[in-house]
Amino acid sequence: SIPHADLVIIGTGMAGVGLARALRREGDTRRITLISADSGYDYSKPLLSTGFAKRLAPDRLAQRDAGSLAEALNATLLTHTPVTAIDPEAQRLTLVGDSEYAYTQLVLATGAAPRTPFAIPSECEAHCFSINDLDDYRRFHRALGHGPARVAMVGAGLVGCEFANDLHAGGHRVSLIAPESAPLPRLLPEPLGHALGNAFADAGIQLALGRTLERIAPGDASSVVLTLDNHDTVEADLVLLATGLAPRTALAAAAGLEVSASGIAVDRTLQTSHPGIFALGDAACVAGVNAMYVQPLQASAKALAKTLAGTPTPVHFGAWPVIVKTPLLPVVAYPPLATPERWRIEADGADMTALAEDIDGRLIGFALTGGCVRRKVELSRAAPALLG
Ligand code: FAD
Repeated sequence: SIPHADLVIIGTGMAGVGLARALRREGDTRRITLISADSGYDYSKPLLSTGFAKRLAPDRLAQRDAGSLAEALNATLLTHTPVTAIDPEAQRLTLVGDSEYAYTQLVLATGAAPRTPFAIPSECEAHCFSINDLDDYRRFHRALGHGPARVAMVGAGLVGCEFANDLHAGGHRVSLIAPESAPLPRLLPEPLGHALGNAFADAGIQLALGRTLERIAPGDASSVVLTLDNHDTVEADLVLLATGLAPRTALAAAAGLEVSASGIAVDRTLQTSHPGIFALGDAACVAGVNAMYVQPLQASAKALAKTLAGTPTPVHFGAWPVIVKTPLLPVVAYPPLATPERWRIEADGADMTALAEDIDGRLIGFALTGGCVRRKVELSRAAPALLG
């Protein structure tokens, strides 16, 4: 017969595990099955971009393996088992290998996948990586080996900047390549981005900003050569791609659920367009907002645990700024949801405060660098909630 659980959660990232944990904390005893495409280790994803400076072996980043996680949650956990289809009417899943699994309620916590905006030639594939989970970290860690490596970091968003800083701190020779003229283009107004770029350059990170990658080709035996649009070349042992993340919506879309480029559409109670199916975390777009960081998914897990336990509870996201882990120049940002009328910027060297204001002069977002990050709490109190 087909196995069944009262609740199936697809995904064992912080969202899926956080929900199961929140339910057990509420005293909920239903039968829960978590299904993961990966190895199901319990780990904190934000730590991935802090591990190389401390030379942490992959296992040091994991709190527990899948077996102990299942035990701690009193749940069944299926690892290396991609779900390939959802039948919302029959309340059934198809798993890799064509076996089936039945559910009463379903939660999608499928996260987001790295985008690769260009083709990597097959002879260079062994040099090219992205790190979006502990299994990826394990592979990259192995490829880095023991000696210092030349790492070409492609992409200067949060993930790219954090890995650039962390790998540099770990003794590697880092180049940072991105089409934008300053780092963190979606989080910082340009002057603050330049301050971070300067801190990187002063520390010895080689910047190739305002440059797009035209070609990756094999170099000598153990390297690749990246050619930029101005014909400059960067030779590297390893290439780390951080060119953005896209919510994993394909499974939901194929099942007829409402999705957009921002994620699986859910209302404030985290319900998708199909009753009995919910979504949270990087995969979900909650009433038009997909924040893709930890605080919103934790709030979602708490609210959804209450909803599933019988008390419909709409989620609320506060004015929670993003803390960027770049010790070379600390950054805190709460980007405005709408394009601001103006940015008011005050600077004392690399210590900068930028206030985003609307047409009536109201604060709608902010960005802080260096010593100014201590203004985080004060400004968060004054800024509007992400989802009020
Ligand atoms: P994921 O962790 O991506 O988990 C998705 C799960 O779904 C995985 O288990 C996957 O195997 C599974 N899955 C997907 N498809 C299927 C399928 N078809 N079948 C079965 N299983 C499937 N946020 C912060 O707030 N602060 C930070 O400092 C911070 N630092 C970060 C640093 C890095 C390097 C990165 C990459 C992100 C960082 N973030 C940070 C963002 C934060 O980590 C994410 O928002 C969060 O981890 C997302 O969790 P999730 O559970 O939604 O998704």
